[in-house]
Amino acid sequence: MTIPTVRFNDGNSIPQLGFGVFKVPADEAERAVTLAFEAGYRHIDTAAIYGNEEGVGAAIAASGIPRSELFITTKLWNDRHHDDEPDAAIAESLEKLGLEQVDLYLVHWPTPAKDDYEHAWEKMIGIRDRGLARSIGVSNHLVPHLERIVAATGVVPAVDQIELHPAYQQRDVTDWAAAHDVRIEAWSPLGQGKYDLFGTAPVADAAAATGRTPAQVVLRWHLQKGNIVFPKSVHEGRIRENLDVFGFELSDAQIAAIDALDPGDGSGRVGSHPDDVN
Ligand code: NAD
Repeated sequence: MTIPTVRFNDGNSIPQLGFGVFKVPADEAERAVTLAFEAGYRHIDTAAIYGNEEGVGAAIAASGIPRSELFITTKLWNDRHHDDEPDAAIAESLEKLGLEQVDLYLVHWPTPAKDDYEHAWEKMIGIRDRGLARSIGVSNHLVPHLERIVAATGVVPAVDQIELHPAYQQRDVTDWAAAHDVRIEAWSPLGQGKYDLFGTAPVADAAAATGRTPAQVVLRWHLQKGNIVFPKSVHEGRIRENLDVFGFELSDAQIAAIDALDPGDGSGRVGSHPDDVN
């Protein structure tokens, strides 16, 4: 099976579908990532705050998969934006992951009340220039945050990793990203199971029509819209199911029906608002 890749504005590429390990306990991460590798995933999305980088690193080391075939993302946590803390943080993440370089390093949240995300972005550029991260990007950055870091540095992030699923599509951010050559990574692509996404008519109808599961329909919707996704599961069956999304297509009408699931007033959000995380 070949997983399509998405090209960044810096020339590097990422497998469009990966495996996320948010809330995977440290002692389960090695097993879950090993199952994912066995299923065929090569892109892993972790973060310092997830507390499981060592487990991810153990799975990488045990896998025997050539480093060049893997794509590993981790993230800088909120309390380490200031001074030279980002340099210490990437060193610690690399040590835990057992790597010399990550493929993508992200500023996890802008923490706007602390007003230090512009400095964090400047430090990320240095981390990339020293070869500790091949590509750099941000997460949970809204349009004003994106505009500020680009104006300050001239460096456009490769990605913005934002909450995005059918009920919460953040079109202001995705429009800005499209206009500025920034790729969108959709976190909680399945809405974290917090609302009955799978039971809505557009998803259930498309599942019935294609003979696929509702989760596969939602992931397919993301892929056809160009989003990078990394659904999380610790169950082998679902890990495999979530990767088996390349043998069918949704029609334009099926895509449009799922597009219409966003009420447009922000009420579909299941995670925190970036202004509230500091
Ligand atoms: P998700 O939308 O991937 O939902 C995961 C949940 O969906 C699972 O716990 C399970 O309950 C259910 N599920 C998964 N596969 C299923 C299937 N095939 N059928 C039925 N139910 C299924 O949510 P997530 O884990 O929050 O997001 C995915 C990844 O995004 C995370 O692991 C993490 O890497 C990233 N993330 C990033 C941020 C950020 O601030 N940058 C925040 C949250 C998540």
